[in-house]
Amino acid sequence: MAIATINPATGETLKTFQPDSDAQIEAKLELAQQAFYQYRRLSFPQKAEWMQKAAEILERDREKFGKIMTLEMGKTLKSAIAEVEKSASACRYYAENAPLFLADAPAKTDASQSFVRYQPLGPILAVMPWNFPFWQVFRFAAPALMAGNVGLLKHASNVPQCALLIAEIFKEAGFPDGVFQTLLVGSDKVSNIVADDRVKAATLTGSEPAGASLAATAGKNLKKTVLELGGSDPYIVMPSADIEAAVNTAVTARMINNGQSCIAAKRFILAEAIADEFLKHFTLKFEALKIGDPTLSDTDIGPLATADILKELDSQVQACIKSGAKVLTGGRALSEQPGNFYQPTILAEIPVGSPACFEEFFGPVALVFRVSGIDAAIELANNTSFGLGSSAWTQEKSECDRFISELEAGAVFINGLVKSDPRLPFGGIKRSGYGRELSVQGIHEFVNIKTVWVK
Ligand code: NAP
Repeated sequence: MAIATINPATGETLKTFQPDSDAQIEAKLELAQQAFYQYRRLSFPQKAEWMQKAAEILERDREKFGKIMTLEMGKTLKSAIAEVEKSASACRYYAENAPLFLADAPAKTDASQSFVRYQPLGPILAVMPWNFPFWQVFRFAAPALMAGNVGLLKHASNVPQCALLIAEIFKEAGFPDGVFQTLLVGSDKVSNIVADDRVKAATLTGSEPAGASLAATAGKNLKKTVLELGGSDPYIVMPSADIEAAVNTAVTARMINNGQSCIAAKRFILAEAIADEFLKHFTLKFEALKIGDPTLSDTDIGPLATADILKELDSQVQACIKSGAKVLTGGRALSEQPGNFYQPTILAEIPVGSPACFEEFFGPVALVFRVSGIDAAIELANNTSFGLGSSAWTQEKSECDRFISELEAGAVFINGLVKSDPRLPFGGIKRSGYGRELSVQGIHEFVNIKTVWVK
């Protein structure tokens, strides 16, 4: 895959980039290693000052960064600007909380003094996706750098300008040379970088094959990984739910980021008693969404990020229809105009056991299922290889308790939208990956948890 900026709203190739040569990769790895030897000794107040400065730069230039995101991957400009602000919030969160999260933790034992000390590991490789080009990187970088690690970013090949800008932000913020570097490389270079002795651990956010490939190399080389992979999150609505709120949130939950979010609600599991009412409003709201130029403030849905994603999504939709599913609205690409636009689509009556019951649909397509009650809802929700997020809507305390306990997912949100928040851990189970980002758990992923025992 070429490293290039291709405007998804027009299909126009705007800029191509020469990938880093092997010699350049070598130089960056060496610089990362040398930078780590100095950087790991710096105090929290010093690192926090730079991290706060990174937040200020993000806030200062939110429009500029937002525009580049929209240009490279098609999210609406308003959501891109909000993403820049959220990235700043992660910088501030870890600047303030890292000293607390990484303070020596005493433990009472037979020693005169025993405790846990958290220490950085070294250069960490982050392989990141295009869908949240800033947020995904900052939620890795803010805790990693505050812990004293140094970062190496291999960003998705379709967001090179975002990748280069992020390295510049850390530089301008004051972080020393080599503490955060962008490697302009294709995915074929990742294995060698993971295997390199100077790289101590790796994280990948993306698809299952990419995660499995990185983890295989890391495993061979005995290195820790964190994987944030795909999802097909259930969105369950029970008869006691506030239907109006459930419908409104359902539209946002499915359409966030033009439908391309790992934690987007993808399978809508509706209790039979409220299904007709829910679907009537859900369909009307889908039909009212404005698709088009992502830079305009009244656009709800922009293009999908690449032509390949559009093709893949459409082939899933057509296969689902062929298997017997009913189209409630949408069902095709907007092929009469340039760009990767897809109609907001709702598919219902999906035959049990067909691929759509299990696959991730990465675009503005909602899959609808009807169930007789909570047992069937939980069974269907869990009947997938994924386990990222889940949302359940009910006013019944006993149902709420069951969803919290029985949904197989890294997160359960009751009467709300599944979202990431620096204050809460984020990650999945099953084939959605392992490890956690954000909160205290996120910063503990890439540290040596050193046991200290003093007689
Ligand atoms: P992808 O193809 O796996 O790409 C993600 C990153 O991995 C890119 O930097 C890509 O580089 C790289 N990559 C691809 N194949 C690789 C390989 N064999 N070895 C090493 N690196 C490789 O993912 P995508 O399809 O663009 O992104 C969408 C997926 O990401 C969805 O499944 C979505 O659910 C998931 N996602 C998960 C989370 C989460 O937090 N759980 C968040 C966002 C997205 P190139 O661009 O150079 O190919």
